[in-house]
Amino acid sequence: MSSQASFDRASVLGKSADELRALLESLGEPGYRGAQIYHALYAERRFEFAAMTNLPLAVRERLEREAAIALPRIVRRHRSADGTVRYVLGIGTANIEAVFMPEENRQTICISTQAGCAVDCRFCLTATLGLVRNISAGEIVGQVLVALEDNRAALKPQTNIVLMGQGEPLLNYDPVMAALRILLDPDGMAISPKHATLSTSGIVPGIERLAQERVRPKLAISLNASSNEQRDKIMPINRKYPLEKLLDACARYPLRSWERLTFEYVMLGGFNDSPEDARRVVRLLANLRAKVNLIPWNPGDLPYEKPDLARVQEFRRILADKGMLAFVRDSRGQDVMAACGQLALAESAASASPDVTHA
Ligand code: SAH
Ligand code: SF4
Repeated sequence: MSSQASFDRASVLGKSADELRALLESLGEPGYRGAQIYHALYAERRFEFAAMTNLPLAVRERLEREAAIALPRIVRRHRSADGTVRYVLGIGTANIEAVFMPEENRQTICISTQAGCAVDCRFCLTATLGLVRNISAGEIVGQVLVALEDNRAALKPQTNIVLMGQGEPLLNYDPVMAALRILLDPDGMAISPKHATLSTSGIVPGIERLAQERVRPKLAISLNASSNEQRDKIMPINRKYPLEKLLDACARYPLRSWERLTFEYVMLGGFNDSPEDARRVVRLLANLRAKVNLIPWNPGDLPYEKPDLARVQEFRRILADKGMLAFVRDSRGQDVMAACGQLALAESAASASPDVTHA
């Protein structure tokens, strides 16, 4: 499916139309050929230069020799009973994970923005990896391309993407934005900004930078606690960007007419799931155009408890009674560790079998 990159060949995956134009000019070809490659790669999803029939044969042959389209390798597929597929993807010597979730009229693809994560939230398995490395724009776009290609026969017309896999997107800002410009470009992968969500643990300078972008996805903030004292205990990043700074950046964030901020709230049994917590959340978010997603904690080998379902419903009702939009989000793919916060398997390519089905 992919050409392997070698050190002396130019890698095209993740390059913008302008960068591809410049690359083709540097090869002595007309610049518009770059725009043709951009279209073939992202809009038509052709992963071999030979298949880019919008280019003359001689150019295709030259690109085969001098350039490469290095898609992430599928190291493992884990299929959940609910149809979700968790991919372990090899990028060089590192692994990342992406999740494909088929629905009736659309698919949602959850992608990683770093290999591992340095933010160290106590309830999240990805944190146990630490930061392995930042990943490139091509490695980010490549996850979407691989997931789409691997499910080509079953694709629905709409694709949603969520930047909620491994990593903190706003700590790998430039590659993440370069990838998003391709993903959200009507001439590129043509995903609607309404169908793309970036989730952050609350990196305030990153939120401020995102606010200035011309092209941007929806923004979700991992709130996860109802006070600084509580948030400090589970998200060390809160000492750097405490709730007042975070919520102030949220209040200044320029929402589009159709847009709300999403606040994710991972519910940890007996820790942050009381009615008082719910009332504090109402007060924290009172002045924001917001929606709250309550995510019952997905277990990993960490010292927390799943919340009691009745308490989750009670929490939601308290928010709703105060006029807040609030939903309970049950994570999919839990049987294959594909759910939020479970993406942490450091599987090696050498020991992997290509397809593992849990049904
Ligand atoms: N780093 C970003 C995006 C990836 S995490 C962030 O933290 O927002 C995506 C979501 O999964 C976050 O809201 C996070 O709080 C949540 N999450 C992490 N571990 C979880 C777990 N074990 N169960 C449920 N949600 C979890
Ligand atoms: Fe990183 Fe998000 Fe996990 Fe926190 S919840 S450790 S920011 S991936």
